[in-house]
Amino acid sequence: MDPRELRRDFPLLEAQPDLVFLDSAASAQKPRAVTEALTRFYETAYANVHRGSYPLSEAATEAFEDARRTLAEFLGTPDPEEVVFVRNATEGLNLLAHSLSERFLGPGDLVVVTEMEHHANLVPWQQAARRKGARIRAVPITDEGRLDPAAFERLLAEEPRIVALTHMSNVLGTVNPVADLAERARAAGAIVVVDGAQGAPHLPVNVRALGADFYATSGHKMLGPTGASALWGRRALWEELPPFLTGGGMIERVTIEESTFAPPPTRFEAGTPPFAEAVGLAAAARYLAAVGMENVWRHDRALVERALAALAEVPDLKVFGPTGPDRGGVVSFVFPGVHAHDLATFLAQKGVAVRSGHHCAQPLHRRLGVAATARASFYLYNTEEEVDRLAEALREARRFFATWIE
Ligand code: PMP
Repeated sequence: MDPRELRRDFPLLEAQPDLVFLDSAASAQKPRAVTEALTRFYETAYANVHRGSYPLSEAATEAFEDARRTLAEFLGTPDPEEVVFVRNATEGLNLLAHSLSERFLGPGDLVVVTEMEHHANLVPWQQAARRKGARIRAVPITDEGRLDPAAFERLLAEEPRIVALTHMSNVLGTVNPVADLAERARAAGAIVVVDGAQGAPHLPVNVRALGADFYATSGHKMLGPTGASALWGRRALWEELPPFLTGGGMIERVTIEESTFAPPPTRFEAGTPPFAEAVGLAAAARYLAAVGMENVWRHDRALVERALAALAEVPDLKVFGPTGPDRGGVVSFVFPGVHAHDLATFLAQKGVAVRSGHHCAQPLHRRLGVAATARASFYLYNTEEEVDRLAEALREARRFFATWIE
């Protein structure tokens, strides 16, 4: 896999050759295959799905259901109806928090999350726990930035109803051993929800092998357009869950007083679904599959290893997250005494685009003892030279901010 060759597929990167784009953990750039699939669909096959009986609507419906099959294959399930299309990972996790808590959560029940969760996999559970009088506890992280396995076991001994954890941290880059943790959590009687927003774009994912019950992805982080994401769940659980959003498209029979609901996945796709975006997302999944997710992961790993080695040589720079093979292409760092926004602004002036802030993970930043970090994240189109430019810009930043550094 040669990132210089792949970059030719990304018009924005081609148009801005001096831009070092290191913010794919926030959202990824789009290959031409995706934007062309979107345009083609809008220009040649566009009509609302699951409604019209005329050929154009039938063709659009077929394209939407074909996208479902593509995403099912990408995620490793033989059953396309286990895939629900939502707008983003946040909506998927809100759907799960709502519907799982309605069905399975009662007063005093326990929901286990982790200290490294993005707010999208924390706040919906807090809201659900509040509605149901349930409790919420977090698996703490070790100083290296991994989940504490003994603490995880202690929480499982309390028989949680739900365990919600991220596949890969968007701040530390830690890849959690989900297959192992899910097996233990399910053996303890919990339903396991995985936030795969950072997992699906970067790691080979096979939901059957992972063994969780639900897996939420974020389409726009895996080269897809904004507005469509795949939410996977086990069919037997989908069947049991009440809907989240209600209205058109998801019903069976409606009277003025009450309604019955369609089977999954339709039950969870109220209103006009993001079908054009789903077609674009399917093009993204095909693009990633053609490159090969093993290759994407290996490439991310090579870049992060290079970055960790180079950043370790920058005096005073504090780098967060573990070292080892369980570390994906995300690196967060600070110069103590220099605000992360100032550092990111300096890097931007050098043409290096990174994110700064708490990255929607305030409890994690509290644990790290900093209000904010700057974060570089890598993807298949990033090169070793770009990692070196980041390191060089950080060396310059250190000289520039020398009197501020504590
Ligand atoms: N979880 C994690 C780990 C994330 O990094 C993000 C995006 N920052 C989300 C959830 C939310 O994803 P989305 O933008 O698709 O709602």
